[in-house]
Amino acid sequence: MSESTETASRKLLGRLRDTLAEDSAGQERLDHITHLIADSMRTEVCSIYLFRDAETLELCATEGLNPDAVHQTRMRIGEGLVGRVARSRNPINTPNAPQERGFRYMPETGEEIFSSFLGVPVQRLGEALGVLVVQSRDGRIFTGDEVYGLEVVAMVLAEMTELGAFLGEGEALSARHTHPRVFKGGTGQEGVAEGHIYLHEPRVVVTNPVADDPVRELERLQEAVNTLRISVDEMLTRAENGDKEQREVLEAYRMFANSRSWMKRMEEDIARGLSAEASVEKEQSLARSRLSRSDAYLRERLHDLDDLSNRLLRILTGQGSETGAEMPEDPILVARNIGPGELLEYGRKLRGIILEQGSVGSHAAIVARALAIPLIIHADGIVNEALNGDHVLVDGDQGVVHLRPGDSVAAAIRDKIAMQAEAQKRYIGLRDKPAQSRCGTIIELQMNAGLMADLPSLLTSGAEGVGLFRTELQFLIRNKMPRRAELAALYARVMDAAGDKQVVFRTLDIGSDKVLPYMKPQDEPNPAMGWRAIRVGLDKPGIMRMQLQALIRAAAGRPLTVMFPFVAQFDEFREARRRLLAEIENERRLGHVLPETLEIGAMLETPSLAFAPQQFFDMTDFVSIGGNDLKQFFFAADRENERVRRRYDTLNVSFLSFLAQIVARCNVSGTSLSFCGEDAGRPVEAVCFAAMGLRKMSMRPASIGPVKSLMRRVDLGALKQVIDEASSNGEQTVRPAVMNYLVNLD
Ligand code: PEP
Ligand code: MG
Repeated sequence: MSESTETASRKLLGRLRDTLAEDSAGQERLDHITHLIADSMRTEVCSIYLFRDAETLELCATEGLNPDAVHQTRMRIGEGLVGRVARSRNPINTPNAPQERGFRYMPETGEEIFSSFLGVPVQRLGEALGVLVVQSRDGRIFTGDEVYGLEVVAMVLAEMTELGAFLGEGEALSARHTHPRVFKGGTGQEGVAEGHIYLHEPRVVVTNPVADDPVRELERLQEAVNTLRISVDEMLTRAENGDKEQREVLEAYRMFANSRSWMKRMEEDIARGLSAEASVEKEQSLARSRLSRSDAYLRERLHDLDDLSNRLLRILTGQGSETGAEMPEDPILVARNIGPGELLEYGRKLRGIILEQGSVGSHAAIVARALAIPLIIHADGIVNEALNGDHVLVDGDQGVVHLRPGDSVAAAIRDKIAMQAEAQKRYIGLRDKPAQSRCGTIIELQMNAGLMADLPSLLTSGAEGVGLFRTELQFLIRNKMPRRAELAALYARVMDAAGDKQVVFRTLDIGSDKVLPYMKPQDEPNPAMGWRAIRVGLDKPGIMRMQLQALIRAAAGRPLTVMFPFVAQFDEFREARRRLLAEIENERRLGHVLPETLEIGAMLETPSLAFAPQQFFDMTDFVSIGGNDLKQFFFAADRENERVRRRYDTLNVSFLSFLAQIVARCNVSGTSLSFCGEDAGRPVEAVCFAAMGLRKMSMRPASIGPVKSLMRRVDLGALKQVIDEASSNGEQTVRPAVMNYLVNLD
């Protein structure tokens, strides 16, 4: 890059900044900016297109095109060259635009006479805000230097947009982060909540995108990078004796922090006139737009770089310390996505959770359910729109978020919160009554748990025991492998809290989305069908052994119930059971007190186990259907993929008849059978399972009241008849028929 281009670039950025200082309206500013850019780039045209909504771009200012087209010309993302730049987040540089694939002629703009076209995305931290275009009559191709220069300008425009520099009358120029916004997502956990936003990753605001003194900015960048390097080195020293995998991640951080090419790009940005923080953001934005297009390995590396850039920005701006902003009294957490371990760290403090990604079947959702915190998933765009401290209402039942709501919406939601509190009171009245159907059948309702904090619910919910204790949650909340004695003490406390009630301990179900922070992540093409649960347990005997010993020692004279997850074939169960019995034998030899009784069971989570030899059903003390996994493998529909998850109804005739087959197989051997997937906690599903012959179900504590309430009103024989009739009529799902029966109950 020549010195003169640097000077020209700095001059232009300086002028852009001056427009910020001017006392003018947003539109005037935008118009002025297009003029400045066209002048500096020596093009006839400069236009700024901004997103009006997620799909539509609008021409918001132009120098050189027909001024009447401003705020009139619109295009959808992907449409025309401008739409293509917005979609691909990549520049388009062509000397002959009309010949270019996807060119769309817009007569109102008068652009047909301009042959060359250069468009770059206007984006901030990976969020597309619009497109900046220059065009000229001569068929020139813009040099690499010019493209780069325009990207730098686009970066400054993005920051100015974020700072509200273009506020005005038109909607496309309206203020960000001030108006009420509604986000329609999906339900991860029902419930309604009111509170204030707490961002999982603090949002950094760059108030000075342009800087006059590149030497000073380079010094600031260098100082900040030095501080960053020292902190990464310190983390490495702290991790020295720790886990190898954790150290590997930190080594990758160190590699990036010392990366010459990363530094060099930022130095070039600064030479062009960006401030140190704007240069970090520019590189971060580029990395983020590459994220979606990369393979799993590269994605991990880009995530590392993203995290490192965030740290660097916090150092440079002094905003958002490592722990972020102060948490409000009634925090509603907003994040792109979150792992179950991170969510557990927040714990019950949270009033609600809103995720931009996430899925109903994910373990973060299961944790949210265990904690009974309303969860919205797929609230597209919330991370960029919400600010720390914003007032927010979460309607988990409808999957809707009201950000900065008006008074009338707030009043309606508050009514709903009050009504739900009323219903809870009604369920408390049922607490000590059995879940006995109208025809007299008693269904045993247990609860799912995984945290010490869940256990008080044993009393308050009226659960008859813990039908599924997910032991991995305890492993997920730590940053190193827990020790045997620690685990034994914890399991003993769980048994103490349960008193006479049964606790079914499920051995570690790690892998899939439950990645232990201190275990090397496996780069598997399809982790849900990969090395997880009992497969890890059998292949890594040390961990399984340690956990089994901890369970035996915790029981010390009390009954012990152990369940192995994700058993796909008889041999896996036989081997796991053999190891548990060997541990018992070992403990006996050591003279330790043995459990009073021992029950060993298997989770049926893959269809294959339903067809296991009879000897399996004879050997196992009980079977528990893990419906979350079973359903995903039965329908071949990823439980975490929102697109396909909802396609197949749990009350689908094939699935219900499959459940009936499992009931029949267990009946032959007299094997106890339960259902512990999330569907057991849905009242309509639960009564149908009971009608199909299930007599035991385990669910989140908050579901016990609603399930019991409906169960007590239903005649299972009559319901079974409704199901059979709908099935023989060739229905795909029995739900409409069942709902018709249920709404007519008295
Ligand atoms: C299930 O798969 O239904 C289950 C209970 O296990 P998890 O949700 O923990 O995979
Ligand atoms: Mg499972």
